[in-house]
Amino acid sequence: MSLPTDSAAARGDGRRPDQIRSVRFQNHIAPHATGSTLVEWGNTRVICAVMVEESVPGWMKAQKVDGGWLTAEYSMLPYSTLDRKARDIAKLKLDGRSQEIQRLIGRSLRAVVDLQKLGPRTVWVDCDVLQADGGTRTASITGAYVALSLAVRKLQGEGLVTADPFRSPVAAVSLGVVEGRPVLDLNYVEDSGAEVDMNLVMNGAGEFIELQASGEESTFSDAHLSELLRLGRLGIRQLLDLQQAALASA
Ligand code: UDP
Repeated sequence: MSLPTDSAAARGDGRRPDQIRSVRFQNHIAPHATGSTLVEWGNTRVICAVMVEESVPGWMKAQKVDGGWLTAEYSMLPYSTLDRKARDIAKLKLDGRSQEIQRLIGRSLRAVVDLQKLGPRTVWVDCDVLQADGGTRTASITGAYVALSLAVRKLQGEGLVTADPFRSPVAAVSLGVVEGRPVLDLNYVEDSGAEVDMNLVMNGAGEFIELQASGEESTFSDAHLSELLRLGRLGIRQLLDLQQAALASA
């Protein structure tokens, strides 16, 4: 499979193939949280909030594991989609997609945090989608890093955390092959028609934390994968800069 030649033609929403949607962070959106931000990523909006519990899970105590724990929960609010999405609690079960996404968020953050340096406490990261237009999991991870940084700052200010627990920042972006062309940061329309779907999570050193790429009733070539990774790195670099700017002005 070769790459199409009109690779500079505009996308449905006018973006270039290598262009992310506009991303901004509105920090301290949830005043009772230890750290929080509303990430507005095109028409996708996610509230990321962090709270801290001064205890560790039972399995850590039982296995005498030192340090703290970090875990994440993800949900789409009922009014985040065009048709009302029933709350999981009303169905008495967490849907498989939410479960997969919240585990991804937790893994992505734990990959850049030294749990020892958190001390014996549990950090809860809640990501609630206010408006969904594609890329809610990548917005959750990217926003959760900002919320967690704000929370860590607060804990440091209170003297509860002394050393910097971050090994690196983390950001995530979606990609896909749409109408034969690799593109960065899919909105819902692109996502629903994409031949290949990819989610990329990277740290500040440009190392992979998670790389998920799947053909949707389709396959992809080495050339596609290389181009997706090139675009992904471009996106991640911009997101890391936007996170730093949001934290510098917080
Ligand atoms: N979506 C939806 N209802 C759902 C699941 C997904 O409307 O129950 C939409 C939503 O816009 C979401 C997009 O489909 O952002 C893509 O979903 P996907 O599972 O690929 O996850 P995401 O791209 O949000 O990480």
